Amino acid sequence: MSRIIDFSKFSSIKIGTPIRVDVMREKEPLDGRFLVGGANNLLVSPTPPPLVVLGKEFEYSKEEDRLLKIGGATKSGRIFSYCKKRDIGGLEFLGKLPGTLGGLVKMNAGMKVYEIFNSLVDVTLLSGVYTKEELEFGYRFTNIDEPIFEATFEIKKGFDYTLLDEFTKMRQNQPKEPSAGSVFKNPDGDYAGRLIEAVGLKGKRVGNAMWSEVHANFLVNMGNASFDDAYSLISEAKSRVLDEFGIELKEEIIILYS
Ligand SMILES: Cc1cc2nc3c(=O)[nH]c(=O)nc-3n(C[C@H](O)[C@H](O)[C@H](O)COP(=O)(O)OP(=O)(O)OC[C@H]3O[C@@H](n4cnc5c(N)ncnc54)[C@H](O)[C@@H]3O)c2cc1C
Repeated sequence: MSRIIDFSKFSSIKIGTPIRVDVMREKEPLDGRFLVGGANNLLVSPTPPPLVVLGKEFEYSKEEDRLLKIGGATKSGRIFSYCKKRDIGGLEFLGKLPGTLGGLVKMNAGMKVYEIFNSLVDVTLLSGVYTKEELEFGYRFTNIDEPIFEATFEIKKGFDYTLLDEFTKMRQNQPKEPSAGSVFKNPDGDYAGRLIEAVGLKGKRVGNAMWSEVHANFLVNMGNASFDDAYSLISEAKSRVLDEFGIELKEEIIILYS
């Protein structure tokens, strides 16, 4: 099965074109295809590699044996509502973090010290079920290179409303325009946003893409920005920061082109 996804509407940064993608309705290997989740961390060119998404079969949250089991395609907002309604703690940040379960686990997404791996128990991949201890993970990194079909979490009693307020406050310095979150990972002991600002690129615009005035590590779409607009700003920031500071910025967003 396949469907057409218009990435200028589907992706959080609203950049891209309509592309035909496969839909995985049962567990199967990637076979050279790139798995798209909610496209909150992607910059998709008009010529990406073959793409695939998980079908609705993988959208669920359920409690089993005192553990929380979540399907790979379930959106963070749905997981958040499920936990809030049932007074489950540990995933409050998902109220402020866009993504699907698979994308969140693959990226070890989080806010400050609150990361998705904190309460993770195991993940279900095609090759089997792996406990957290069997996986490698760190800041916005895991070594998972297969589709994540399901993940299991501990059930901690007590949804924490104070934490939710904290996350809401953290979001107040984020730009309102469409973006894909932070473009670069923070290099050790520094901030990508500080470096982009230091080389004079904060507020720099090419076409309709711009380094945000509010948060320099956010690339924002001011309206119908093209892939090329965004890509040229990213390339410029990398080379300027390397030239001036000798620091190699590493993308947090994933750029898809072939
Ligand atoms: C406004 C904004 C703010 C953000 N703030 C933060 C933040 O504070 N912290 C943070 O960590 N991130 C942040 N992000 C980035 C984004 O929310 C996360 O990276 C999220 O995990 C992306 O999930 P996704 O489903 O959209 O994945 P996608 O963007 O579609 O894909 C990201 C990666 O996950 C992989 N993937 C997707 N689904 C699966 C699956 N089922 N199995 C295996 N791999 C899969 C993809 O192949 C790709 O490698 C922000 C994004 C936006 C737009």
